Amino acid sequence: MTAAYDPNNIFAKILRGEIPSHKVYEDDKILAFMDVMPQSNGHCLVVPKTPARNLLDASVEQLTDLMPVVQKIAKAAVKAFEADGAVIMQFNEAPAGQTVFHLHFHVVPRYEGVPMRPHEGGMADGAILAANAAKLRVALA
Ligand code: 5GP
Repeated sequence: MTAAYDPNNIFAKILRGEIPSHKVYEDDKILAFMDVMPQSNGHCLVVPKTPARNLLDASVEQLTDLMPVVQKIAKAAVKAFEADGAVIMQFNEAPAGQTVFHLHFHVVPRYEGVPMRPHEGGMADGAILAANAAKLRVALA
């Protein structure tokens, strides 16, 4: 059985504006922001504004709202970062690799011949994240 949603998770704090993030896209239901430990240039995260731990307790409505934004961000990221493709990743519970327990989809641009960096590999420079978020916002406009 899946554990209960913890409203003190880091993405809930980002959603409440308690900690900063480099925002890329926002509407009344969804937020997208840069991953602080990017696995490739332009790695970002798409989350619902409503609580869900992961896919296992998400509602059909949350998933229905999320997927068009995931696609929109993936297309914008490929354009903004001149990527050759994009990986969409989504982990459910710790044994499956989940570390932050608010539902999120990773959008990771991929480049021919460039290996993906490890999950939670290292913090990126804030100025680079800010510049990448700005590039994505332009590609989304
Ligand atoms: P998960 O393993 O849960 O699918 O991935 C969580 C992701 O959140 C990781 O890729 C990690 O780099 C990212 N992350 C962890 N803490 C923060 C944070 O405070 N801000 C942002 N923007 N990303 C975070």
